[in-house]
Amino acid sequence: MASVSVESLTKVFPNGVKALDDVSLSVDDGEFFALLGPSGCGKTTLLRILAGLEPPSSGTITIGGRNVTRLPPRGRNVAMVFQDYALFPHMTVAENVAYPLKVHRIDKATRRRRAEEVGGGLGLTPLMDRRPGQLSGGQQQRAALARAMAADAVLFLFDEPLSNLDARLRMEARTLLKRLHREVRKTTVYVTHDQSEALALADRVAVMDHGALRQVGPPAEIFHHPGNLFVAGFIGSTPMNLLPARMLDSHVLVAGEAIPLGTPGGESLGGAAGRDIVLAVRPEYMTLAAERTPGSVPAEVEVVEDLGTTYLVTLRGPDSTIQAVVPETRVPKPGDRLFAGADWSRASFYDPDSGERLEVAVSTGPTPPTALRLGNKLSN
Ligand code: ADP
Ligand code: MG
Repeated sequence: MASVSVESLTKVFPNGVKALDDVSLSVDDGEFFALLGPSGCGKTTLLRILAGLEPPSSGTITIGGRNVTRLPPRGRNVAMVFQDYALFPHMTVAENVAYPLKVHRIDKATRRRRAEEVGGGLGLTPLMDRRPGQLSGGQQQRAALARAMAADAVLFLFDEPLSNLDARLRMEARTLLKRLHREVRKTTVYVTHDQSEALALADRVAVMDHGALRQVGPPAEIFHHPGNLFVAGFIGSTPMNLLPARMLDSHVLVAGEAIPLGTPGGESLGGAAGRDIVLAVRPEYMTLAAERTPGSVPAEVEVVEDLGTTYLVTLRGPDSTIQAVVPETRVPKPGDRLFAGADWSRASFYDPDSGERLEVAVSTGPTPPTALRLGNKLSN
């Protein structure tokens, strides 16, 4: 078992592309750590550098307390599962799974036994004598997983290992991976562009953008307290509502509606009092009502999408589009004029210029007195 530490890692490819820009992170012993970000943000590059398949331009990598920055892949004792599985097509499943042991010059009988043991745990026993070309995508994925596990490496590196599977198999494989990790507790770095996969699997998630880390934390923190507008926009199966608002001393104005703050007073607002801000709230925390209530804004329903047990409603608000997820029992129709409110205590606030999070608490107490409501127009 091993912890991983990456310090000031930068990678500039010979063509001038800066794939990693001063990345520092640490992964605990036994932790499942996800690297999440859009295509091209540098995830594969970081993983290949951890494996020793690519040299960094600068920075250091420590695995299990040992500086491995200059060590070749074989000296690092890591196992990598690639997106395309990279199984040897001319070898059987058993030979593929046993291959890392062959590299380490372990005798044939031990190799066969270990391959059967690990393969058996992944349901591969009836397939051990087939070649990769005779396997389905899901079976190939399990064979690649078994090959990584047979190696008895100290660190597992996964590069989008589920992305070639269809939706149902992907869910099954995700659960299998989570169960395997609970059993073996191997330190794992898992690359994905799929935020739901990262949130479901990882102990901690690092969100990457353009070669830099934008936020590192447990899934619930990333989901409920996005550290900046990039993360707020990237995480969530339906994107957060990003509403233009203005921060005042004791409340936030959204489309002329006042939402009371839990901690009034200029100083607690991080210097944001009197400034334009962005208020972010997830569609799941929005509510739609036929009657105006304090803290709700008028909006007209434009589109209604069936999500199965819930519906996604897109509305035109006074100065922005608003989305709300509503229960199947209360579905409005396009053209309906409603009032969009929210559990504002779930809202996040951002500086529109820097995109950084502002730490402001919204009151969770009783609804504000009518006197706080300031009419329909932003007084500007
Ligand atoms: P991700 O895995 O997040 O999609 P990559 O790490 O593959 O991203 O790539 C990061 C950036 O580096 C991209 O702009 C990509 O085009 C570039 N890149 C990756 N590999 C090379 C290479 N060998 N030479 C030049 N540029 C590369
Ligand atoms: Mg990649």
